[in-house]
Amino acid sequence: MTEKVYVNRTLNLRKIRIIGFDMDHTLVRYHSEAFEETTHRLVVERLIRSKKYPEIIGSFAFDYNLAIRGLVIDKRKGNLLKVSRHGAIRAAMHGTKVMDFHDQKLAYGSTYIDLRDSRYSAVDTAFSLSTASLFMQLVECKDSNSSLALPDYEQMANDLMSEVDGAHRDGSLKGLVRKDLDKYIIKDPDVVEGLEKYRKHGKRLFLLTNSDFNYTKLLLDYAIQPFLKDVKHWSDLFEFVITAAQKPRFFFDSIPFLKVDLATAEMTNQEGVLVPGIYQGGCAQDFTRDLQLDGDEILYLGDHIYGDILRLKKDCNWRTAMVIEDLECEVEKNKIVEPIQKDIEKLMNEKHPIEVKIVDTISEQIEKKLSKSSEVESLQKQIEQIDEKIGIKIRERQNHFNPYWGEVMRTGNEESYFAHQTERFACIYMTKLSDLLEMSPRTYFRAPRIPMPHEMS
Ligand SMILES: [Mg+2]
Repeated sequence: MTEKVYVNRTLNLRKIRIIGFDMDHTLVRYHSEAFEETTHRLVVERLIRSKKYPEIIGSFAFDYNLAIRGLVIDKRKGNLLKVSRHGAIRAAMHGTKVMDFHDQKLAYGSTYIDLRDSRYSAVDTAFSLSTASLFMQLVECKDSNSSLALPDYEQMANDLMSEVDGAHRDGSLKGLVRKDLDKYIIKDPDVVEGLEKYRKHGKRLFLLTNSDFNYTKLLLDYAIQPFLKDVKHWSDLFEFVITAAQKPRFFFDSIPFLKVDLATAEMTNQEGVLVPGIYQGGCAQDFTRDLQLDGDEILYLGDHIYGDILRLKKDCNWRTAMVIEDLECEVEKNKIVEPIQKDIEKLMNEKHPIEVKIVDTISEQIEKKLSKSSEVESLQKQIEQIDEKIGIKIRERQNHFNPYWGEVMRTGNEESYFAHQTERFACIYMTKLSDLLEMSPRTYFRAPRIPMPHEMS
């Protein structure tokens, strides 16, 4: 069987006593393109209505390919950036136009960007794809219609982000999902079967979501309840259902739990030690203490590197697992592009001895005070020819992935910033939850030994 769970840090599932799940995009998957298209439309309407943006933006068509996960929005310059693990810009768009290397250099020099700067905003969940693509369309619209009364790039980004937040918070997006669950939510019986299998092995399960109780109930009633076999109700499957959790604050702050009544949605203060049930709010510290568990006996799965994984890893010692839906296509496509990758490596190997020869020849000229030979020139020509072939192969390879951005996890030979964060903070990662659940709850996930550069020579 091919491994579908990828391991950054060794994890013995037998040592895990309780497993927690984020809901949106982790336990319950979305038809992402449909959901993001609806968000895009709703936010455009809100910008026109409440922020008085010109009506013309109502004609924007949603382009799902315009952004991928892990990109960075530069609000000030109106750019979307793909960044390497070191923070170097490796691809960029201004509005909906691709910036070439020369334009990138003009805009950013060769400095590394500091992602802690508030002018940058990461596209770090599937829910932010529509934000990124709408921002790029607004930038394009402003650039090509100077007479339009649009604010500066940074203000547009802030307006847009506040309307996206508003649409998520005030229930307008959720209202649309509620009306057409089939369109937006994926039913996955394998997940429910897997969860019941884990329970048979004595694993305790809990749900920890930022969604409110009513929306959580809606999705669980739709995507989990119909497939239950061993238990009657989803509230029996999950020992704790924690809603409106305010992650990442849940992991480092001290917020009291409120108890939620399943039938009436009424809330009361939680007194004393936590008992199985449905809650709102709360914090990891109280949860870990009341369950009398060590942090490393708890495994938590989420899809949001910042909200679910990063702060959790930094502030608690729970184990972490990340669901990266985007990997589904990437793993398949990596296999398809393997022959192209081999060609690229072959060409690189052809180039190397020529480069060495150039270095040696010029060094000799300098050291022995010789006059310039024509040999160097002809060697440089050879390199140019090989580079041209490599360029063609790289584009051919990239065309198999996102047409604008290529792969999510790589920028050329380097890891992308997103991949680097995943590697640092997620103990294991996978495309979808059922990939983990189809494995035995007794699995020992062993991290591969990854050679360092000095070990490969
Ligand atoms: Mg989520």
